[in-house]
Amino acid sequence: MNDLIQSIPKGVKLVAVSKTHSCETIRQTYNKGLRIFGENRVHELAEKYKELPKDIEWHFIGHLQTNKIKHIAPFVHFIHSVDSSGLLAAINREAAKHNRIIKCLLQIHIAKEETKFGFPIAELQEYLSTKEFLKYTFVKIVGLMGIATFTDDFVQIRNEFRTLRQTFDMLKKTVFASDADFCELSMGMSNDYKIAIDEGSTIIRTGTLIFGERDYSKL
Ligand SMILES: *Cc1c(COP(=O)(O)O)cnc(C)c1O
Repeated sequence: MNDLIQSIPKGVKLVAVSKTHSCETIRQTYNKGLRIFGENRVHELAEKYKELPKDIEWHFIGHLQTNKIKHIAPFVHFIHSVDSSGLLAAINREAAKHNRIIKCLLQIHIAKEETKFGFPIAELQEYLSTKEFLKYTFVKIVGLMGIATFTDDFVQIRNEFRTLRQTFDMLKKTVFASDADFCELSMGMSNDYKIAIDEGSTIIRTGTLIFGERDYSKL
């Protein structure tokens, strides 16, 4: 873990992806100084929030269903996985109930796999051009997120990250030109974070590198 932390340039945030790991394990990592943790299931996150120190910044990184937002809206810091206009509207409604502003990243579909979530780039542009998001007071779009294809082909992974970066740059020059808060690019996991940083990532999401392999049978 120390090697990982030392290899990350200043200005790149590290999300310790703690899904499937126990509160005890998370606490050990917390005691080493990490404060940003990421989870991909609503109930698991809500339980861990209750147990663990309140100065943890919780990031939600998984597919989010509208009817479950209420369980994390009181405390979640960042939602990386906004993949529809309806979801953004619903997060705004739930955040309003707690008078909080939740930072959101729009998830873009960059992988070749059909199964991954996210806006197709063309659809995203169309949606953003309506400027509908400007009327939401309780969500703040701070950037983009993407997950590369699960493959050993590093050229392909690099190309996917590059596409995401170019989309980010294009939006930064157009829709978000006067918005300094639009500055985050969440890309890179344990197996591809170095490529992601090379391609301009500002937030990497690593689980296995920090906690070791996940054991799904314990859930
Ligand atoms: C699980 C997960 C990660 C972390 O994956 P590792 O390969 O363990 O680093 C990152 N991002 C998302 C969206 C995830 O679901």
